Amino acid sequence: MAKENNTNNTPKKPRFSSWWIYGVVIALIIGFQFFGGSSFSSTEKTTTSELQEFLRNGDISKIVIITNTRQAKVYLTEEALNKDVHKGVAQKPLLPSTSLVPQYVLDYGDLQIFQNEITEIKKENNLDTIVEFDTESNVIGEIFLTLLPFALIIGIWIYLMRRMSGGAGGGAGGQIFNIGKSKAKLFDEKTDTRTSFKDVAGLEGAKEEVQEIVEFLKNPDKYTSLGGKIPKGALLVGPPGTGKTLLAKAVAGEAKVPFFSLSGSDFVEMFVGVGASRVRDLFKQAKDKSPAIIFIDEIDAIGRARGKNNFTGSNDERENTLNQLLTEMDGFGTNTNVIVLAATNRADVLDKALMRAGRFDRQIYVDLPDLNERKEIFEVHLRPIKTAETLDLDFLAKQTPGFSGADIANVCNEAALIAARKEKKAVTKQDFLDAVDRIVGGLEKKNKIITPEEKKTIAFHEAGHATVSWMLEHAAPLVKVTIVPRGQSLGAAWYLPEERLIVRPEQMMDEMCATMGGRAAEKVIFNKISTGALSDLEKVTKQARAMVTIYGLNDELGNITYYDSSGQNEYGFTKPYSEETAQKIDQEISKIIEKQYQRAIKLLDENRDKLTELAERLLDKEVIFKDDLEKIFGRRPFEKEEEELEPEPAK
Ligand code: ATP
Repeated sequence: MAKENNTNNTPKKPRFSSWWIYGVVIALIIGFQFFGGSSFSSTEKTTTSELQEFLRNGDISKIVIITNTRQAKVYLTEEALNKDVHKGVAQKPLLPSTSLVPQYVLDYGDLQIFQNEITEIKKENNLDTIVEFDTESNVIGEIFLTLLPFALIIGIWIYLMRRMSGGAGGGAGGQIFNIGKSKAKLFDEKTDTRTSFKDVAGLEGAKEEVQEIVEFLKNPDKYTSLGGKIPKGALLVGPPGTGKTLLAKAVAGEAKVPFFSLSGSDFVEMFVGVGASRVRDLFKQAKDKSPAIIFIDEIDAIGRARGKNNFTGSNDERENTLNQLLTEMDGFGTNTNVIVLAATNRADVLDKALMRAGRFDRQIYVDLPDLNERKEIFEVHLRPIKTAETLDLDFLAKQTPGFSGADIANVCNEAALIAARKEKKAVTKQDFLDAVDRIVGGLEKKNKIITPEEKKTIAFHEAGHATVSWMLEHAAPLVKVTIVPRGQSLGAAWYLPEERLIVRPEQMMDEMCATMGGRAAEKVIFNKISTGALSDLEKVTKQARAMVTIYGLNDELGNITYYDSSGQNEYGFTKPYSEETAQKIDQEISKIIEKQYQRAIKLLDENRDKLTELAERLLDKEVIFKDDLEKIFGRRPFEKEEEELEPEPAK
């Protein structure tokens, strides 16, 4: 008969089983308890009167009085053991190693009385029965306490081993030695649901680039026959939520090849050498299934530049992992048809060796969507939403500048939730606007306790921003002002910024002046300032610092920058300028901010009536729009074509 071959790939059950250890521990405890200790195991209980009778009859050879447990152990004479009355009680010790087993045991109550009674009977009957005193330790308890630490250590060890092997992937839970295996999730091109390029809205440039990768995988010969080499990898770089992962999934879906997906942190483990081993395993698996795509999300977890800030040496493991990745990507066999896609938000911190051609040959920038792209993304995410009216997508896209694809997906979802909360049958335009407000500003704090005086300060603060930005040519015009507290902010001013590619110093100055408008209004009206301007101060300080140290826009410091785009020499303790320059930088930053603050004060002082009128209207209505501003200030003289609306929460 043919032997049955074990052809399935499920790992054999490990010979080493943790149950075995549990068994040994339990057996040890029971063994100690049973053999090592209790001598009462084959002993009968008796009473004081019975004992007295046995004693009088001369049956007892020894009585051991255990003082701490108030028990007495009774040992019979050889002759007494043969008497019928004692039949059934222990004759011999259980083990040769243990001491003679007592035949009876009794609880004696009061020691003095018990001792007196024995002495009296002994005297009356002229007996030579031995009476001894002893104490007995709690054998079981002691054994238990001795074994407890061992049991705990063994338990923890088993737990750790099980966790490590259980998490080490491949479905091989229970195997200790699987820790070095890759944790990549394999999406099968035949069975898993596919994402296609249709699901990715906008990102035309990026899509075009990755489409070529799909082409490489589908028809490698077309390129190799002309002597070209298939690129080894492409790096998707861009802010969070812009659709990098989505794009990679679409590549896999379209290329119809196996897709190994994992995150940079999946390589990281507390044991040395595990990361490198996982990288090796991942590439081996991918090569076996080639052509294939490996997708490493958040590659900065392992791909950070080596040898930076490594004071403790703790990065060694990460560096080993990175080195292994570099080696694998360099690979000896070039035509393996494995393409590595990786995504990161921080291309600036990645190791230069990783970015060089031959590894990640292509860098694909996935930027925040512009107006039209946002419209397309809305289209994708509105598909499953039941809307009450035909929504003006242009309007929605205008309301969401600076939003990423993920934010827009969130707006659509949030709008549906808001509508459901209001028991509506379909989602309306107002629900979308509420969702945008909520995402930008956070949850509306309806029951935040604000005193009338605080409310007045907030109203003047926001009116200050609005007034100054309305008056200045280069400041982004205001569209909506609110004093409804949301999230962290107590009020907010929404701007309509131009999309600028280059910014001039006067534009930066005007923006800073508008940002300082809040505090300036408090000063002009109440002659007092408050903590409410924290986020404004943070913003202007950053802007002023950037002018001086990054863009070389300060006359005093001149055409110099301390910015390092390579990110390799980020200064930690050592600054790339002298103490003297540091002082100058601080002075210049302070000068710039102070100048704009004074400018805002002057502007507001000159327009005190309008500022007050605006603040009062704001106190009355809580939210005011561009129309209200126009009614007070008249049409803005330098009004431009409106394109974008950017919310800027201000405290
Ligand atoms: P991170 O850098 O934080 O990992 P990411 O760039 O990888 O972010 P994704 O995970 O791809 O972002 O996007 C999150 C979600 O946002 C997607 O699941 C999708 O719903 C939505 N999204 C983002 N960009 C787009 C887009 N261009 N078209 C359609 N949906 C998008």
